[in-house]
Amino acid sequence: NWIVKTKNLKKYYQLGKNTVKALDGVDFAAAEREFVAIIGKSGSGKSTLLHMIGGLDEPTSGEVYVDGRRLAGMSREQLAVFRRRKVGFVFQSYNLVPDLNVYENIVLPIELDGRRIDRAFVDEILSLLALEEKREALPGTLSGGQQQRVAIARAIASKPAIILADEPTGNLDTATSHDVMGLLKVAAKQFQQTIILITHDSDIAQMADRIVHIEDGRIVKAGDTYAG
Ligand code: ADP
Ligand code: ADP
Repeated sequence: NWIVKTKNLKKYYQLGKNTVKALDGVDFAAAEREFVAIIGKSGSGKSTLLHMIGGLDEPTSGEVYVDGRRLAGMSREQLAVFRRRKVGFVFQSYNLVPDLNVYENIVLPIELDGRRIDRAFVDEILSLLALEEKREALPGTLSGGQQQRVAIARAIASKPAIILADEPTGNLDTATSHDVMGLLKVAAKQFQQTIILITHDSDIAQMADRIVHIEDGRIVKAGDTYAG
């Protein structure tokens, strides 16, 4: 079963007389529970694709379906709810609130969304991401790898259908990057979440179930998926 699908997705930017084809007809799909890495050079369209899937930006043409919903058919309000309920974002920067501790940062989006906090679930996430000892710590006292683990925990805690990760290891050294990605993978498998990761680092991409290669706004190699 597909959880994400794009059909002939195009995103063109007009820069004066020039048209930048950031996405030029992308048919992308991710299966439920799959961990897909999208790899490509800087400027190949990776972030643009992730933004379309996450409903952060509108395509020029083509369709995006997430969890059975067509994004273009949603109102602004529905799209906002979709992003809060269905998508967990992880970026290169951790975007933690400095004067809230680790636990408070993790549950903040759930509270802002007016949902009940599943404390047992949050505890399980803290344990899987090796953050139990850091529960009361402020972000400023944590290493980069620890802060990114908190950002991952926050994304997972709102029980999204998909986790969209944009160069999450971009600020981390090689060993820490592998540790953090390993924990993200274990946690997502445990909670049956789909991960779509963008990276330019082929070592990190190797950790995924499948690697999709993008060049100049087109998918040039997509690999085999286990979705029917
Ligand atoms: P990647 O994430 O692979 O580095 P991007 O998706 O960020 O690539 O960018 C793809 C192309 O689209 C690049 O040529 C980039 O310069 C261009 N682009 C991205 N966003 C904009 C924008 N807001 N306005 C104009 N061009 C853009
Ligand atoms: P194709 O065989 O052309 O790849 P699909 O069978 O994947 O087409 O999709 C056919 C239609 O199913 C789409 O046009 C869309 O309306 C719907 N659809 C696509 N993805 C999903 C999804 N994840 N969940 C539910 N419906 C979907």
